[in-house]
Amino acid sequence: MARYTDASCRLCRREKQKLFLKGSKCTTDKCAVSKRAFPPGQHGATQIRKKESNYGVQLREKQKVKRLYGLLERQFKHYFRIAEKAKGVTGLTLLQLLERRLDNVIFRMNLASSRAEARQSVQHGLVYVNDKRVDIPSYTVSLGDEITLKTKRDTFVKKVKETQETFKDRAVPKWLQVVPNEFRSKVVAMPTKEDVGFPIQEQLIVELYSK
Ligand code: SF4
Repeated sequence: MARYTDASCRLCRREKQKLFLKGSKCTTDKCAVSKRAFPPGQHGATQIRKKESNYGVQLREKQKVKRLYGLLERQFKHYFRIAEKAKGVTGLTLLQLLERRLDNVIFRMNLASSRAEARQSVQHGLVYVNDKRVDIPSYTVSLGDEITLKTKRDTFVKKVKETQETFKDRAVPKWLQVVPNEFRSKVVAMPTKEDVGFPIQEQLIVELYSK
């Protein structure tokens, strides 16, 4: 599946906020947004004073969420179309679909420092759902699923433990019940908007795609 491979920090600067795409670097003073909180490019600094139109605000919200989850436009729109057809509130369903992606689950379990790193763990075949290997980062977990990260490589185990230690203050959402001292969790509920842990105005995305 195609993915964005250019500099991640540019994406945060474009959205003028931290999207936490680079793991531990994001909490240090090396973070590009801390140093230059304006869009990249020759005229980036002048754009900071520009007033956004309604369309601009909706577009930026969609871009922000898309980039937060590491998706391209086609993949993101695909999730929106599923959410639109599903029963319930479209915006919330969209957020739930994004949160239930397997790469996101590994990230939210604090087994990877970023969603990009979590995606790699899945692609490398280290992640199991209900004891079956799943190497598709976009796999959608369901209620009752057990997600486990398995590896025999000591260096990788050490790295994951270090990640857990570094991000021990990053709360695991309530919909995932983590088994202590194991790289394992169970889906015990559907994610709520509060579980996303990032300010998102999903209604703006619904308005944008409904035009
Ligand atoms: Fe974004 Fe992290 Fe880069 Fe800061 S360091 S700009 S939060 S990706």
